Amino acid sequence: MSNKTLNVDAKLYDYLLTVSVREPSVLAELREETARLPNAGMQISPEQGALMQLLVEVMGARQCLEVGVFTGYSSTAVALSLPADGRLVACDVSVEFTDVARRYWRRAGVEERIDLRLGPALGTLDALLESGRAGTFDFAFIDADKDNYFNYYERCLKLLRPGGLLAVDNVLWEGNVVNPADDRSSTRAIRALNEVIRADTRVTISLVPIGDGLFLVRKR
Ligand code: CA
Repeated sequence: MSNKTLNVDAKLYDYLLTVSVREPSVLAELREETARLPNAGMQISPEQGALMQLLVEVMGARQCLEVGVFTGYSSTAVALSLPADGRLVACDVSVEFTDVARRYWRRAGVEERIDLRLGPALGTLDALLESGRAGTFDFAFIDADKDNYFNYYERCLKLLRPGGLLAVDNVLWEGNVVNPADDRSSTRAIRALNEVIRADTRVTISLVPIGDGLFLVRKR
């Protein structure tokens, strides 16, 4: 019994994966291909993908937003959980990585659900706001450059409908949020956003210690 979150060691983690992650072969293959890249650690974990799919399905989400695509694991997972007419606007600056993502979107049969916007995400989010998309998204996932986390947060909140859900990745930053010696701008930006979220009365919140820490934020 425990009244706090368990410490999950390697053996228990393997068990968790075994009993709860039904990763389709297309996602398993994407994981294998991404593992060969030097920045493979930027990919979300399979159990986090499963959680995001569950959230999207529970909400009946149709309009989704992703800030930071990398090689496409989370976008493929989310798009697989959308209805056929669901859409995901996916923001990234990297042609190299999103070319990998595109191949897997095609293989998963979800390419037409995904609207890739190449370019700095702040510009894309501002363009969405200017085109009247405020209050129209059901679900948003932020997983890009940490220095802009606050800016992404504020824009995504505007783009979400009341009752919409925002998921912010890497908010525990491999434990560095509590390492006083870590003064990197990325670490400071994550700490600052966590404090903003903590005090934000516009939202209902829960920080889930899955992967590298996933802040779930529901717009009221
Ligand atoms: Ca991440």
